[in-house]
Amino acid sequence: MTTAQLRSLAKLAQTCGNGIIELTSRANVQLRGIMPDKGALVIKVLEQAGLAPKTPAGDGVRNVMVNPTAGFDGDDRIITLARDLSYALQTNPRSQTLSPKFSIFLDGGEACALINHINDIWLSLCDQGKNFAFGLASRPPLQGDDCQRPPSVWGKIPFFAAKGLVFALIDILLAMREQQPAIERMKHLLKAQGQAHLMASLRQKLPLIEQAEDFYRLPLVPHAHLGIHSINQTPCFYLGFKPPLGRLSPGTANFIADTIESANLDGNLRLTPWQSLIITGNGSLSRLEEMQRLFSKTGFITDAEQALAHIVCCVGAPGCRSARSPVRDEAQTLAAQLQGRSLPPLHITGCAKSCAANEAMAITLVATAPHIYDVFIVDPAAPTSFGHLLAGSVTIKQAANKLKHFLD
Ligand code: SF4
Repeated sequence: MTTAQLRSLAKLAQTCGNGIIELTSRANVQLRGIMPDKGALVIKVLEQAGLAPKTPAGDGVRNVMVNPTAGFDGDDRIITLARDLSYALQTNPRSQTLSPKFSIFLDGGEACALINHINDIWLSLCDQGKNFAFGLASRPPLQGDDCQRPPSVWGKIPFFAAKGLVFALIDILLAMREQQPAIERMKHLLKAQGQAHLMASLRQKLPLIEQAEDFYRLPLVPHAHLGIHSINQTPCFYLGFKPPLGRLSPGTANFIADTIESANLDGNLRLTPWQSLIITGNGSLSRLEEMQRLFSKTGFITDAEQALAHIVCCVGAPGCRSARSPVRDEAQTLAAQLQGRSLPPLHITGCAKSCAANEAMAITLVATAPHIYDVFIVDPAAPTSFGHLLAGSVTIKQAANKLKHFLD
């Protein structure tokens, strides 16, 4: 997102919406409370700002993901490929019919990455950028990762064959869907055909596939989305910062745009799945350090020391009709109570739909009534997807006390 696009969103939120810009855990932006008579204007402004889909029918299939720092090392092939794939998916009448949940992940092996999302198709750079390892209905494996059964790596292909691979797989999926309409995602196709059969069909379309059983993607760096980091130990630096609970006002959005422009920094902001933003320093560490101080003074989270850096929550009440509690206000209370403790990822959700997190975080608070929560600790063996119950029907302060004991 450019600073100009951020300004457009700020203006829309102020003049047509409820004055709030939400950064989401899907690295999207949401504007809410759009006035009924302003819908057409909002769409027109989004189109003019370059934030709309290429065609109306392509809106649901723009799920091509890259890591937030992709291309910062000077190799922008992944970004170019992602744009190319996104354009092709949106404009091809057949791929426009894919499920809006169908997702493709292009992983350049960056240290700042969220790789626990299960993708329909993932491709991860290997062999010094010459090839892509790939897999279906899974995620790229990390070293020491022995929990993925069956093995998630299907093989590897040359970089130039990536687009052909994606569309070969989509062709196979759509052909099967004509016979069995319930087959909408790669996980359905895999279940219906099995890996060996599917791989044989794929090899007929793409004979270039080689074995890659021993592939592991490069390790992640914890909290690489916050603060100043360099790319691959080079003098190429970036700054990650987060508005508290991922929420911007038009004023703070314009402040970000003004600050970046007046510091003469690259005006391209990256959104992250941690409800935060990343900018590069154009080679100037001192300008980024100055900006970090300024953002920190203004209330943004710029390091992992703050409890709020580890807390995500959904819109909650009163913005969402399903919400049982004003989770955003209570997240602030919880963060103040837990400040100073080493906090694992914590999710506060206004109801069990869990819009802000794709999978269970280490700790989850689920609102069950106004100002009342159930507190869960992640546990794959537990009967609920959130984990096992640490405390039931507690206020946010009681939850904080329980968590203090648990974390000590
Ligand atoms: S999780 Fe529930 S309360 Fe929160 S935004 Fe989603 S539907 Fe609304």
